[in-house]
Amino acid sequence: MEYYSTSNKNIRASFEEAVKNGIAPDHGLYMPLHIPVLTRNELEQIKINTSLSSTAYLLSKKLFGKDILEKILEELVHEAINFESPVKEVSENIYSLELFHGPTMAFKDVGARFMARILHYFNRNNTTPVNVLVATSGDTGSAVANGFLNMEGIFVHVLYPSGQVSQLQEKQFTTLGNNIRALEIDGTFDDCQALVKRAFADETLRQKKILTSANSINLARLLPQSFYYFNAWSQIESENLVFSVPSGNFGNLTAGLIAREMGLPVNIFLAASNANDVVPEYLDTAEYKPRASVKTIANAMDVGAPSNFERILDLYDHKHNRITKHLYGYRFSDSQIREIIKNTYESTGYILDPHGATGYEAARKYQNSNPSSDIVFLETAHPAKFPEIVNEIIGKQVDTPERLKAFARGKKDSIKMSSEYKDFQKYLEAI
Ligand SMILES: *Cc1c(COP(=O)(O)O)cnc(C)c1O
Repeated sequence: MEYYSTSNKNIRASFEEAVKNGIAPDHGLYMPLHIPVLTRNELEQIKINTSLSSTAYLLSKKLFGKDILEKILEELVHEAINFESPVKEVSENIYSLELFHGPTMAFKDVGARFMARILHYFNRNNTTPVNVLVATSGDTGSAVANGFLNMEGIFVHVLYPSGQVSQLQEKQFTTLGNNIRALEIDGTFDDCQALVKRAFADETLRQKKILTSANSINLARLLPQSFYYFNAWSQIESENLVFSVPSGNFGNLTAGLIAREMGLPVNIFLAASNANDVVPEYLDTAEYKPRASVKTIANAMDVGAPSNFERILDLYDHKHNRITKHLYGYRFSDSQIREIIKNTYESTGYILDPHGATGYEAARKYQNSNPSSDIVFLETAHPAKFPEIVNEIIGKQVDTPERLKAFARGKKDSIKMSSEYKDFQKYLEAI
C-alpha cells in the first residue's frame, strides 16, 4: 500500500519507508492513499471468529498483504497479538472494551508489539543495529520496551524524568535488561523529549547510527489499533454501535476512524478528554488552538497539541462539518474523574482506571440523549497501574494482577544522565 504526507500529497512512501522514517520528510504524517474496504464476506468472517489475533490477521492481509509475504505476516501477527480484548457490560448498554490484557496491561501493547516485529522484519538484512529512542512520562516507555524486548538487532533507549514516573511504571522498563536501556534523566518529560528530538536532528550522529522513533506517529503503531474496534464489534449484537475513546494524542481515535473507512459499521465516535480539551474545543468552535498541556490524574492523556489530530483533519478534508458528523467531544476535570470512578464502583462494582473513566462517562452522557444506542468505551489501562489514585477513591486496594507484581519484584537498572545534549550525544556515540 502507498502512503502520502498530510503536508503534501505528492510526497509518497511505501509501508517500509513510512515505518522506517516515522514522520514524512516534510514533517507531515503518513496516511494511506487508498484505505482498503472489507467485503461483506470478510466482515462476516470477523463476526464469526471473534479472537483478536484472527481479526488482526485478516485486517493485516488487507492493509499490509502487498508489503509483507502472507506467511511471514501470519507468524508476525500471531506473535504480536497474543492476548484478547474482551468486551464486558458495565451498565445497561454500556460496555468496556478491555485493552489491558497484554504484557504491560495498557492498550499501547498492541501497537508497540506489532511495530517491534514489523521493524525487526524490515531490518532483517541489516548488519548495523537499529536504535529506537523513546521519551516517556510512563506508559509509552513500558509498552515499547516490553514490545521490543529480545528483538535481535534492535536496541531501545528509554528516556524518562527521574522521580516523575510512578514506581510501577519505572519498574516496567528499568528491569528488563538485554536490548533495553533506561536513561534516567535529571529533568522533566519535556527535557527528555527535547533530547530525543535533538538527536534525530543531529546529522553527524545520524550518519554513523541508525536512529528511529516508536511514538504513536508511526504507522506501524497506529494502524494495528484498528484491529480491536472490529473485534469489539464482533462481540456485540447491535445495529447502533458507538465507540467512546479516552484521548491524548488521538492515535487510538484516529485508528477507529480508519476502521470506519475500512467498513466498520459505526458512525459515531466520542472523543473523551481530561482538562486538556483542545479537540472538544475545536468540535464546539471550529477553531483549533493547541497549547501547553496541564497535569491531570489521567496523565497519559495530558497532551496539549495532539499529534494525530492532523490525520483526523486530513481524513475529512479539514471540513469541520464533516468531522462533527462523526465525532462528539466531552471533557472531564480531575474531580469529575474521581467522582466517576467512585460512583461506577459503588453502583456496578466495576473498577475504572482514570483514563477509561472519561470514556465511560462520555458514554453515559451520550446515552442520555440517545437511549437506543450501544456504546463501547475503550478501557485503555488496568486500574492496578494507578494504585496511588484508584485505591484512595474506591476505599480499598485494587487487586494487582500477577503480571504487574512480577514487574514490581524486578531489580531497577538505569543509567543516570543530565538533561544536557552533550551527555546524551556522548552516550549515543558510544552505542
Ligand atoms: C496513551 C494513553 C491514552 C491516550 O491515547 P492516544 O492514542 O494518545 O489518544 C489513553 N489512556 C492510556 C492509559 C494511555 O496510555
